[in-house]
Amino acid sequence: MSATTADARSRPADTKKVHIADTKMTLRNWYKHVDWLNVYFIIGIPLIGCIMAIWVPLQFKTAVWSVLYYFYTGLGITAGYHRLWAHCSYSATLPLQIFLAAAGGGAVEGSIRWWARGHRAHHRYTDTDKDPYSVRKGFIYSHMGWMVMKQNPKRIGRSDITDLNEDPLVKFQHRHYIKIVLFMGLIFPTLVAGLGWGDWMGGFVYAGILRIFFVQQATFCVNSLAHWLGDQPFDDRNSPRDHVITALVTLGEGYHNFHHEFPSDYRNAIEWHQYDPTKWFIWTCKQLGLAYDLKQFRANEIEKGRLQQLQKKLDKRRQQLDWGIPLDQLPVMEWEEYVEQAKNGRGLIAVAGVVHDVTDFIKDHPGGKAMISSGIGKDATAMFNGGVYFHSNAAHNLLSTMRVGVIRGGCEVEIWKRAQKENTNVDYVRDTNGQRVVRAGEQVTKIPQPVATADAA
Ligand SMILES: [Zn+2]
Ligand SMILES: [Zn+2]
Repeated sequence: MSATTADARSRPADTKKVHIADTKMTLRNWYKHVDWLNVYFIIGIPLIGCIMAIWVPLQFKTAVWSVLYYFYTGLGITAGYHRLWAHCSYSATLPLQIFLAAAGGGAVEGSIRWWARGHRAHHRYTDTDKDPYSVRKGFIYSHMGWMVMKQNPKRIGRSDITDLNEDPLVKFQHRHYIKIVLFMGLIFPTLVAGLGWGDWMGGFVYAGILRIFFVQQATFCVNSLAHWLGDQPFDDRNSPRDHVITALVTLGEGYHNFHHEFPSDYRNAIEWHQYDPTKWFIWTCKQLGLAYDLKQFRANEIEKGRLQQLQKKLDKRRQQLDWGIPLDQLPVMEWEEYVEQAKNGRGLIAVAGVVHDVTDFIKDHPGGKAMISSGIGKDATAMFNGGVYFHSNAAHNLLSTMRVGVIRGGCEVEIWKRAQKENTNVDYVRDTNGQRVVRAGEQVTKIPQPVATADAA
């Protein structure tokens, strides 16, 4: 029965015409792809502001007021929309909530409810087709293209906003959004400059229109620049990145690699010297009793993530180096065979059961030709490990690049090879590519106890 219901339900949808976003953009239909209302809000109005600015001189007081109002409305987005409502990274008292909901309205970036839904989808589906502002579709797209071009709402990933749907203040802001935008975005900044020092037009153009433009462009950078520029100290599988420039532009939202790893942390920057005024604002509100329950991940968890990413980078670097043929890929030689080949002029030296071909190296041996030649065709384990000379870590590393075989019954190595065949667990540290990690002093040719008395014997 459920199948028939589903059929019946899907049939009218099938006959419905395809959403414009799902059709190819051509010279004939491009204008249908454009969301003209959004174009008017984020490109048209700022343009009008720029033109008006030609005739409206900028007064000093108005300039200061515009910058202050820029920070206030910007914090409405970063401390309010983003860290409080989208991520619940702390709790705010009602006065602070009202302060932030009004400020966020003045930034003209949609209601809390709309903004948080998109942002939660962005975190859940980062870099995929369901990410509403996926940077994989290009820098410009993630910056503002996703608003300028029509999007099929059905393609955007779902996110849970039941908490926001039950929040009376969020509901109120959503219902009265246009009135709030007009008042906080344009009327209020104009009133302050007009009633304060008589600069009505300056207040409207600079603290209103152009300030909206700058706040919008700055916060759009969290979706574009923060996924484009900088380092990835915590995880490099997705696009979010950390960069001080993004932080400067976005009131501290620039440590975005950290943020995507630890989204419910009220901080974006964790070091005291990094620029995160949004964090300082929330912390100050806590001191004033306006914010509480500031969420923070344990340093232990943060350090683990950083270390794992570091390990990944380290593995990548070690894979670019020549560590010699892996032991399990070397042929096994009988002792007699080894001695025979050495006698026939091949420069073979056995150290700790591993056979090395040093023919081309004899002339370069730092200890001289005679020394190295004396080990050819013999078990040079003791000589190499202190008997004649206690070779350096670098020497063991270099030696490993010359290995060509393993002696049958050659102690550890053959046992290890047999264990490999029998599929028993061999206790070696391996990197992400399954290659054995060789630490300093842990080379197979290095024997734990230096043979200091070999000469005396
Ligand atoms: Zn992001
Ligand atoms: Zn976020």
